[in-house]
Amino acid sequence: MTATLTSISDPTNIKECRHCGLRYDWRRSPSTSLKMTYCGSLCEQADLGFTIDALLRVERAPRELAIAA
Ligand SMILES: [Zn+2]
Repeated sequence: MTATLTSISDPTNIKECRHCGLRYDWRRSPSTSLKMTYCGSLCEQADLGFTIDALLRVERAPRELAIAA
């Protein structure tokens, strides 16, 4: 167990994923909004049914991204 943690720099940044229980460095979580709660967007989505990232994108998308795409 300590072997995995030593590869991660600072133990104070280790969080336990609320969904899968995985211990992870929250700074490395790909999730931007709930990185301190879930290890990644998959767990975020599994627990919430959606991701905050996706919601934010949807809110911004209609005008800006419609033109860009
Ligand atoms: Zn997880």
